[in-house]
Amino acid sequence: MLDLTYEPPKPKVIQGAKEDWELVIGLEVHAQVASNAKLFSGASTKFGAEPNSNVAFVDAGMPGMLPVINEGCVALAVKTGLGLKAGINLRSAFDRKNYFYPDLPQGYQISQLYEPIVGEGEVIVDMGPGVARRVRIERIHLEQDAGKSIHDMDPSMSFVDLNRTGVALMEIVSRPDIRGPEEAAAYVGKLRQILRYLGTCNGDMQNGNLRADVNVSVCRPGDYEKYQETGDFSHLGTRCEIKNMNSMRFIQQAIEIEARRQIAIVEDGGEVVQETRLFDPDKGETRSMRSKEEAHDYRYFPDPDLLPLEIEQAWVDEIAASLPELPDEKKTRFVTEYGMTEYDAGVLTAEVENAAFFEEVAAVSGDGKLSANWVINELFGRLKKEDHDITESPVSAEQLGKIVSLIKAGDISGKIAKDLFEIVYSEGGDPAVIVESRGMKQVTDTGAIEAAVDEVIAANPAQVEKAQANPKLAGWFVGQVMKATGGKANPGSVNQIVKEKLGL
Ligand code: ADP
Ligand code: MG
Repeated sequence: MLDLTYEPPKPKVIQGAKEDWELVIGLEVHAQVASNAKLFSGASTKFGAEPNSNVAFVDAGMPGMLPVINEGCVALAVKTGLGLKAGINLRSAFDRKNYFYPDLPQGYQISQLYEPIVGEGEVIVDMGPGVARRVRIERIHLEQDAGKSIHDMDPSMSFVDLNRTGVALMEIVSRPDIRGPEEAAAYVGKLRQILRYLGTCNGDMQNGNLRADVNVSVCRPGDYEKYQETGDFSHLGTRCEIKNMNSMRFIQQAIEIEARRQIAIVEDGGEVVQETRLFDPDKGETRSMRSKEEAHDYRYFPDPDLLPLEIEQAWVDEIAASLPELPDEKKTRFVTEYGMTEYDAGVLTAEVENAAFFEEVAAVSGDGKLSANWVINELFGRLKKEDHDITESPVSAEQLGKIVSLIKAGDISGKIAKDLFEIVYSEGGDPAVIVESRGMKQVTDTGAIEAAVDEVIAANPAQVEKAQANPKLAGWFVGQVMKATGGKANPGSVNQIVKEKLGL
């Protein structure tokens, strides 16, 4: 449960049109189930294999072959549903969606139209501190992926690769609750984050493991509220569906461009036609692909080769008990347990590996807030420079935790800690040992500091006079003493002693 209170963001209003328009967006996200085997066959799902090497007879649509449901895929779909706080349907069923395409050898896709495995859920989409949108999930169903047609390998022939045919997908359908391009991208990002936390989809968008069909319509201010009150879609504009988007940037661009196209049509007295469109990022336009097909065009019917899928509540409960802590809960806990800002908690929980690393640093150092600073500012900053992620960090959580403990104990100053971090980063080693052997320990001995202060004062009589007239200039002395001690003096003590000696 997200304890942080939040307000919904304002809907995006399109400017530059004759009148004000608002956007309404609903997404159908296809997420590849993180399973080693396909939905109805034992063939491998490994990416990048030799074309047509991972194809079972049933995937190739050979006559007389029968599909057998992969229990692991069902478990991952249930887990996903639970992670999205959705209802799980103990009974679901598979239907055939009939269409012809060379990369679909069965001549139909096995999907779940009438009885999906997962019902209504939600995703909380963070749009900045204190601002979030609740996007309702309508359903999640399991279905087969199609193969791949390859048209650019030969001038006169097309090829087909069936490795992907039959791979399990979860289609996650949102309600039209998304109100702007940034929100749509943030929704996909949040969904991806949750799936990765759950381990039910690896979320690799470049390889097409997560892709979205984006439905866009425009309406006048106030109309969306009428739809919300009544549930009546006729208050909304006609939608167009932009197919197969696998980049956050393109999703945003396509929505903006499509909305402007629709507004221009309506303001010109025309009507938007419901259809399926393609986004062309090079030309910066969406293009009609085909007119919208309805469910009846596909001649859906229950797949006679598959019994309805019945699962037991006890099994669902078992899966529920195995759920990891999810991003919203982790973020809330980080804020309350470690006293960090919501922003920092968001950064640390973005990837589950980052969160785990931070918690180990905090456990070693015993100071959550200071550890958060060091992980975010020093470590992430340094890793980013070299385009590394946390799993490639040369500094372990234990090493960083020790550095933070040394600061906390007053053994080293923040400035020296940065040098120490750099040494550990490039050379490795035990931070405490390095501090000892290289004489990096902070000078807390007030006698030594006093001597250094006396020296600076004696050498700079003019500055002494100025500082006595204007106490703000005392900082100059602190800087000189720090310099003289190689940054090892405790800045708090230096400050105090300088003031005393100057009589401020
Ligand atoms: P289909 O299979 O015909 O595409 P679905 O019900 O599977 O229909 O998905 C429809 C998607 O379109 C949902 O994500 C829904 O939120 C979205 N949607 C429905 N009406 C609108 C609208 N007026 N504007 C934008 N999106 C819409
Ligand atoms: Mg659809």
